[in-house]
Amino acid sequence: MTPSRGRLTVVVLAAAAVLVVAGAVLWPRVDDALTVGTALGRTHEPKPWAAALSAPTVPTRESAGTAAPTSAPTPAFDLAQHSSSDPASPWVVVNKQHPLPADHVPPDIVEVEGVQVRGLAAADLTAMLTTARAEGVALGVRSGYRSYDVQAAARADIEARRGFAHAERYSARPGHSEHQTGLAVDVVSGSTPSCDLQTCFATTPEGTWVAARAGEFGFVVRYTEQNTDVTGYAPEGWHLRWVGRELTAWLAANGTPSLEEALGVTGGPEYVGG
Ligand SMILES: [Zn+2]
Repeated sequence: MTPSRGRLTVVVLAAAAVLVVAGAVLWPRVDDALTVGTALGRTHEPKPWAAALSAPTVPTRESAGTAAPTSAPTPAFDLAQHSSSDPASPWVVVNKQHPLPADHVPPDIVEVEGVQVRGLAAADLTAMLTTARAEGVALGVRSGYRSYDVQAAARADIEARRGFAHAERYSARPGHSEHQTGLAVDVVSGSTPSCDLQTCFATTPEGTWVAARAGEFGFVVRYTEQNTDVTGYAPEGWHLRWVGRELTAWLAANGTPSLEEALGVTGGPEYVGG
């Protein structure tokens, strides 16, 4: 390679890097995690929309000039930065294998549109609802924090009316509901209220919007067709769990379908202790 050709190569690589970063900044709306993650076929590198969620950075002269064309530098992301077992952690994983203590009450409950959530999640919930409505999507929120006792009463009621098998399928045992964390909400459809808390919610404008966009606001659709075996729950397109924007960006960038897989926590359809 001649010196002039070497300089040309550096200039071309630098220009390509600038275009990639510009694309990331100008492409903030494409955040269908699974589509983006799998369509690009890269499982361990940051995706443009995920980069756009965190602070966009201009490439340094060094990174633009020396990076190999096929591998961008991968920012370190520490999946152990928050506990997955501490009930008050923003990343606590609650499922049929991992219950919360009966006496756990979230430390910072506030109200958003009449629904109780942890203060940690409040700004993102408000932003998500506001953004959806600004885009003509009639997204609402119906329920958030539920105490152990409220869940126990709801579960007992369903069991009494419909039997144990039905209750096992449709209602978490007390202590095993994510709602007790204060980080989960059930959202509803203003356009199609008949689908609220029903499987068909996923097909409503509100359901398709949250499937594509909730990650932008730090929420995951917790139970999907893809992760039923791992989470132990049938798909619920309306049940969102806040984990923060950094983790949702990571999940999307890596195409990881469940919190269990991301954080290395066991799950599945069987309750601990049977
Ligand atoms: Zn729910």
